[in-house]
Amino acid sequence: MQSIRGLDQIPVTGLKRVGPKLAERLRKLRIETVADLLFHLPSRYQDRSRLRPLHELRDGDEALVEGVVEASQIAVGRRRSLKVWLREGRDGLGGGLMLRFFHFSRAQIEAMGRRGTRLRCFGEVRQGPQSLEMVHPEVQYRTDDLRTGTAVDQPLTPIYPSTEGMQQITWRALTDQALALLAAHPRSLADLVPVEITTPLRLPALDEALRTVHRPPVETPVQQLVERSHPACLRLAFDEMLAHQLALRRLRQERRHLSADPMLGDDRLRGRLLAGLPFQLTAAQRRVVDEIAADLGRPRPMMRLLQGDVGSGKTVVAALAALQAVECGRQVALMAPTELLAEQHRKSLDGWLAPLGIEVAWLSGRHKGAERAQVLARLADGGAPVVVGTHALFQQDVRFAEPPGGLGLAIIDEQHRFGVHQRMALREKGAGAGRLPHQLIMTATPIPRSLAMAVYADLDLSVIDELPPGRTPITTVAVPDSRRDEVIERVRSACASGRQAYWVCTLVEESEALQAQAAEDAAADLRERLGGLRIGLVHGRVKAAEREPVMAAFAAGELDLLVATTVIEVGVDVPNASLMIIENPERLGLAQLHQLRGRVGRGQVESYCVLLFHAPLSANARERLDILRRETSGFAIADADLRMRGAGEVLGTRQAGMASFRLADPLRDKDLVRSAQQGSDLLLEDGSVEGAGRVAGLIRRWLGDREDYGRV
Ligand code: ADP
Ligand code: MG
Repeated sequence: MQSIRGLDQIPVTGLKRVGPKLAERLRKLRIETVADLLFHLPSRYQDRSRLRPLHELRDGDEALVEGVVEASQIAVGRRRSLKVWLREGRDGLGGGLMLRFFHFSRAQIEAMGRRGTRLRCFGEVRQGPQSLEMVHPEVQYRTDDLRTGTAVDQPLTPIYPSTEGMQQITWRALTDQALALLAAHPRSLADLVPVEITTPLRLPALDEALRTVHRPPVETPVQQLVERSHPACLRLAFDEMLAHQLALRRLRQERRHLSADPMLGDDRLRGRLLAGLPFQLTAAQRRVVDEIAADLGRPRPMMRLLQGDVGSGKTVVAALAALQAVECGRQVALMAPTELLAEQHRKSLDGWLAPLGIEVAWLSGRHKGAERAQVLARLADGGAPVVVGTHALFQQDVRFAEPPGGLGLAIIDEQHRFGVHQRMALREKGAGAGRLPHQLIMTATPIPRSLAMAVYADLDLSVIDELPPGRTPITTVAVPDSRRDEVIERVRSACASGRQAYWVCTLVEESEALQAQAAEDAAADLRERLGGLRIGLVHGRVKAAEREPVMAAFAAGELDLLVATTVIEVGVDVPNASLMIIENPERLGLAQLHQLRGRVGRGQVESYCVLLFHAPLSANARERLDILRRETSGFAIADADLRMRGAGEVLGTRQAGMASFRLADPLRDKDLVRSAQQGSDLLLEDGSVEGAGRVAGLIRRWLGDREDYGRV
């Protein structure tokens, strides 16, 4: 056998079919070598291994089905389409399914239009206007008897994460070539994990695992692959987790060499704030306040993640941290992802700090010209000790004072909405002479500690795991929108008895314009139906200058009902609002629904959240709404969310600049996390050149240039 270079040395351009255009597409996916291709793993498989009865199909399923044509029709609507009704049995009993084609030939019309023709189809099941449908399924005509031969040639088809313009067939052609090279030259891909680590874990060799995952043999248990519990999946997940652990530890080591100014403070301002608060801090708040205070007093930059459920009182914790910096003559920047949220923070901080003689400056995208210049000048000369703002704080012309003053603490709220680069930009603003500002990152997305340790690079974690006393739990009900009228009446009577309510409109599309339109329509409709109530409207298209008076009026009780898009998800705090209607909640994820619902239940009166859903619900949506009805704790909901969706998606990791996983799921694979931690200890203890090479190689293989994810 001829020996070849390592597969990580062979550029993809050496493969058949790979021209400059394809190479460029691959490069964007960070696939440059044949080895990179092998680590581009299928995200799922199409299961053609068994026929699914029509009556058990659900919205969203991808399935192989068979049935008999009962009728067909060419529909002329907005788009001409061919509709074909399939029935389960010959006798026309059992379930049915509609096939829909927008492009079709005369031959297809003839073949499929004939009553009694048996068709085998593979495709995705969607809920159509009248029934379940498959749009443009792959179709095979069956002539043999139903009871004979259901064998299929390729039972598990890998589906690769792709990019525009790249077909699955191309991915298969490319990975075929890569796998062929690997088979012909087994040593061309180094297994960087020593067998002393993999053997006790009963994990297969790397090349075997790759072959199985890319081309599952016929006898592979489908379920194991889908659930990723197959040993081949576990082996790759283990390597990935190990690479993450190694990168994490390297980051921690590096952080020991960074320095920051210790800000001990003298309690003068903090003491006054605490004395003036109308409430006592909860035990959990006191604990995290102490953790943060200790960090700020050290000569290393704090990098702390503050987790606390909606309404757990993170803002006052942030205010105390800010005052500690101000006591030391340093500046503080608090950054929020939306203008609405930033406004809310500014108000809270202003309410607490103004009595102490500390002015809270405010910088958002809408400050222009002289107003902006004035804020910038006060930041630069240290005249403004505390500034609250949005992305505007990242901009280049924003400067803080010179040492010994300057930015000492950056507080970032709802961190997963900011990219890693933006956070770094803010950090750079406080950097000088090798010193960095301290950072506090606040999030209401609760993440189990084990997962947090595995994914948040080198952040330390503080958790507020208790709500302030005196909150009444929210009762959540799910009501189909066929009962919309009743719900509207409920709003009327709640408002009549002096309560306030939110009406939240949601849309699938991320389009702000469509969202805005939906909210305007709903507001118009509600105004008509609820004559006599004072109704306000806020959405992303309403300018902040117009939004603010509406919000203020609602907060002051001058409006009964606030119709809004999900812009109110974070930050709004109106204790008298005790009823929330969420239209089409099935369109939102659990975490977002929980955040939204957190806008009510902030006062003494009993609060209600009505999930006004549109039937029929997919199984998944039904489960989400069920969880929301049952659970009120953000932690329980986050747990359920993780179970349903997997870690990568919940954390929205990629843009967050946190760890994201291709295959591993630190929540599901808890044992693997532990093994990977032990494995990384072993690898790092090995001080040899070879050992160091393995570490670097694993990190490069799995993380590539994303390795800097943790450097927030
Ligand atoms: P979140 O953690 O969601 O940001 P906030 O900081 O907005 O929560 O706090 C929610 C509300 O609870 C605010 O009105 C705040 O003043 C109040 N609050 C905070 N801590 C306490 C406490 N220990 N006791 C009573 N109310 C509190
Ligand atoms: Mg908050």
